[in-house]
Amino acid sequence: MDVSPILDKLNQQQRMAVSAPTRPILVLAGAGSGKTRVLVHRIAWLVEVEGLSPMSILAVTFTNKAASEMRGRIQELLNMQVGGLWVGTFHGLAHRLLRMHWREANLPQTFQILDSEDQLRMVKRIMKALDMDENRWPPRQLVGFINARKDDGSRPQHLDDRGDPALRQMIRVYSAYEETCQRNGVVDFAELLLRSLELLRDNKELQAHYRNRFRHILVDEFQDTNALQYAWLRLISGDRTPVFAVGDDDQSIYGWRGAKIENIRNFTRHFPDCETIRLEQNYRSTETILKAANSLIDHNRGRLGKNLWTDGQEGEPILVYAAYNEIDEARYIAGRIRQWVDDDGLRSAVAVLYRSNAQSRVFESTFNENRIPYRVYGGLRFFERAEIKDALAYLRLTINPADDASFERIVNHPPRQIGERTVDLLRQIARTENRSLWEVAREAVDSGEFTPRAASAIGHFIQLIERMAQDIHGIPLAEQVEAVVSLSRLKDHFRAREKGEQGQARVDNLNELISAARSYVQVQVEEMPDMDELSAFLSHAALEAGEGQGEAGEDCVQMMTLHSAKGLEFPLVFLCGLEEGLFPHQMSVDEPGRLEEERRLCYVGITRAEQLLVISYAEQRQLHGQTRFNAPSRFLRELPPELLEEVRPKVQTWQTSHHASGSRNTPKRSPHAFAQTESGYNIGQSVRHEKFGEGVILNAEGSGSHARVEVNFQQAGRKWLVLAFARLEKC
Ligand code: ATP
Ligand code: MG
Repeated sequence: MDVSPILDKLNQQQRMAVSAPTRPILVLAGAGSGKTRVLVHRIAWLVEVEGLSPMSILAVTFTNKAASEMRGRIQELLNMQVGGLWVGTFHGLAHRLLRMHWREANLPQTFQILDSEDQLRMVKRIMKALDMDENRWPPRQLVGFINARKDDGSRPQHLDDRGDPALRQMIRVYSAYEETCQRNGVVDFAELLLRSLELLRDNKELQAHYRNRFRHILVDEFQDTNALQYAWLRLISGDRTPVFAVGDDDQSIYGWRGAKIENIRNFTRHFPDCETIRLEQNYRSTETILKAANSLIDHNRGRLGKNLWTDGQEGEPILVYAAYNEIDEARYIAGRIRQWVDDDGLRSAVAVLYRSNAQSRVFESTFNENRIPYRVYGGLRFFERAEIKDALAYLRLTINPADDASFERIVNHPPRQIGERTVDLLRQIARTENRSLWEVAREAVDSGEFTPRAASAIGHFIQLIERMAQDIHGIPLAEQVEAVVSLSRLKDHFRAREKGEQGQARVDNLNELISAARSYVQVQVEEMPDMDELSAFLSHAALEAGEGQGEAGEDCVQMMTLHSAKGLEFPLVFLCGLEEGLFPHQMSVDEPGRLEEERRLCYVGITRAEQLLVISYAEQRQLHGQTRFNAPSRFLRELPPELLEEVRPKVQTWQTSHHASGSRNTPKRSPHAFAQTESGYNIGQSVRHEKFGEGVILNAEGSGSHARVEVNFQQAGRKWLVLAFARLEKC
């Protein structure tokens, strides 16, 4: 009965889904069961067997990368080009509709897309025109308000202020924003969806056209659609066009961004006559990995329920590495990756997954040290993030006030009423007199060329930088960074301007910069003995920002947050930072709903692994500027212990040889068990350093010329020092 080779490499349930009669279908299945594969094959089936034109098919995926992969796979299966097929993200498809029907959508032909930064700037300009105080009305909140209303499908005229003056004001801003966008011919992300939805809803001709054209609509990762996307789908499908949705309620991880898990739960009600098909065989992971994933997700309530199995191999146990700190964690992982590569594994087969972007920093720097090319996906590398560059610009100015780029970056950031006109004038003078902006600014205060208001604002900025330079003179590096970050008021700025995760992430990253400074060990360069620690650190930041990230096409380790790993698979996966407060994230532990979303995220992480999964946590972690002593994540306890194997480093380089034996499966490590280090220093020993004074040894690692110790100095705080350079005296 097999009529097409398209069905050859599919199991019974997958075939049913691929060759199902034309009606709404929900493929509800766990990770790695072939949902995406089924969706791709379904399209090939429709074209080849049902004889549909690719033009009559609309497929929605979650990322642009997934969309282009999907098109490639379909072409491969069909051995033909499928140019007329519409496949893309919701935003991409909505954009396409608006480009084609700009006139009907009441847009200029040349309309442009407003990204979120542009959107924020636009809102600020409008607020200024309306004479609104940014402190009272955080612009980010207003942007959030506008986007949320659009996601609900509401225009300003639909909103009722219910006599609430604050709400009335917000609606006014929304309304003015809308007028400005229209006048400027720009549309923001939410507008793409809403405008195309309205276009299809109100223009009956177009509606009929597209409903007629699209005979099949297919959606991947259906569990993460939001209300507007869902409305969009229902509108374009009408009563006739069947929707083929594939998804996994256990992988819904965008609730915090408005995704509605209910969409998948309600699918069968909204689309009567719908057939639900379940796939139960997993083709991705070993039995061990799969069992672990199943057992974890079993702790969530209200699931639609699935049972995944595999006839694959049992595979290796899941390795659990208890690092003593985040550096140890990164080094262990780097070592494992080297081993993998030595055994002829590809680096691109390896993924390092973490909960929060700030965790990438230590990996980046360890991989750089170990010359392991990597690529950070879906986020900027640490030293390239805007808020980090802001803080670095302040630090640079304290050292070198002539650094015009740094000056320009922060002169009015956070805003201190130095307007664009003033900066323009500074630039002009600097250019004609061939001097630095800083010099010109210093004199500007008394020059009379500026309005008294501008002169006074510039004066305050100059004073601020001078005060920073003075305050940080002669204090330890981490305190220098901390002081400058604090005086800059960048944290307050981000906290006030960007509510929620985004603002918090920026604050976390700024704190992480302080951590970076604390654990920074200056490489002693003989030719530059006088280079101060701050300059060395700033050069390190600048160099590190430009390095490490592999070239296009180079074989690189893949680093990304768990959120961006959705849908992907890798032979070797490192799941890092499994600590209470980090993962599950602090913001979620008190709320059952959010805790379950964190657990789904962990499920997504585990199920990315094909052959080997390595989980790690640190007993002590410098993150966001603090030392935390977090307990291991509850998610670890939710995995069956018989599937796990605790790893101890083979040779704990700093422990004495009689402790090194039996390194695997030994009981929990404690520094006191390994009192003497290789180099003869004891943990707990008092030492003296020429510059930092007296302190106590807390930790030690490495051997020979790489031996390092961590010392808690009475004055200077905790520092890692390379023994070969530190010239410590025992006392
Ligand atoms: P996720 O939930 O993570 O998005 P998924 O359900 O979409 O996963 P796929 O990515 O489609 O799963 O498939 C997982 C892996 O299993 C892929 O490598 C795919 O090629 C393979 N696979 C799926 N079905 C089969 C099959 N019948 N025979 C062989 N390999 C299969
Ligand atoms: Mg998939």
